[in-house]
Amino acid sequence: MTTQDTSERLSTLPHLALSAHAHNREGLRRTDDAWLAERWADASTRVLVVAGNRIRPVDGIIEWVAPADAPDGVRVLLGERDGVTRFALICDPATAPGEREEWVGLRGLFPHFVDGGADDAPWLFHAIGLAEWHWVTRFCPRCGGGLTSSHAGHELVCTSCGRAQFPRTDPAVIMAVTLGEPGAADERVLLGRQQAWPAGRWSTLAGFVEPGETFEDAVRREVMEEVGTPVGEVTYFGNQPWPLPASLMVGFLARATSDRIDVDGAEIEEARWFTRAELLADAASGAITVPKGVSISSSLLESWAGESLHGGW
Ligand SMILES: [Zn+2]
Repeated sequence: MTTQDTSERLSTLPHLALSAHAHNREGLRRTDDAWLAERWADASTRVLVVAGNRIRPVDGIIEWVAPADAPDGVRVLLGERDGVTRFALICDPATAPGEREEWVGLRGLFPHFVDGGADDAPWLFHAIGLAEWHWVTRFCPRCGGGLTSSHAGHELVCTSCGRAQFPRTDPAVIMAVTLGEPGAADERVLLGRQQAWPAGRWSTLAGFVEPGETFEDAVRREVMEEVGTPVGEVTYFGNQPWPLPASLMVGFLARATSDRIDVDGAEIEEARWFTRAELLADAASGAITVPKGVSISSSLLESWAGESLHGGW
């Protein structure tokens, strides 16, 4: 594979599709009340109605309404793209129109992203991720007072003591653990499977970063805890917003220093090493299913394997 082929491949890795059309968040406009009112009054502005932490697609399409057609609720400035300003409007699910089962969470929208709707992903990740934060953040953590929305939905301020709090994003590491000379025929990758998964499904390991910990140390700790394999060099790969409900997946390549496997039996039921040839053949034959589609896990494995994997989900 030439350098150009490699750079083209890296620019088309599956997970990048979900953030390829990011909007301008207009962060400096969030306290500009006159500008916000003017944009809301513009009939070309589009609004995504979010009931609690769910939206209602119409015939599988994400519906954006004019401001005049939006219900009462908390206005969240999402930003601008292609000359159109967009807001989210967070309303109480109890007063949302339609049937309750018509409203779906972010996970239920992934088929839409895979099926040509990836351009919508940055809007929906922003809108539903922020709505989820409003949904679970009801009181001031310092004094228990009530909260009021500020900064066009991007801050919640205590009405009693004035303390401001900000949207949370919880970093998680996700890693392809490899063993052997990079690129060599006998280089192997370590995959694990959880007990709850269908038979034959394997994936990369992942876990949350703990307070006071670097990404690299989180990779080494999680791999040791889950499968008992020691890791040395850890190299950054890429990242993917994953507001389900509040994660940022940070991907790494991790070099094992031993082939030892001692699974914890809790999070991971089984782990094993695959050569490239085994991974490609088993995925192609259906003997195993591995991540595909729009996740960074898929990108990690495809990047290592050097070609597309025909896996499951
Ligand atoms: Zn307070």
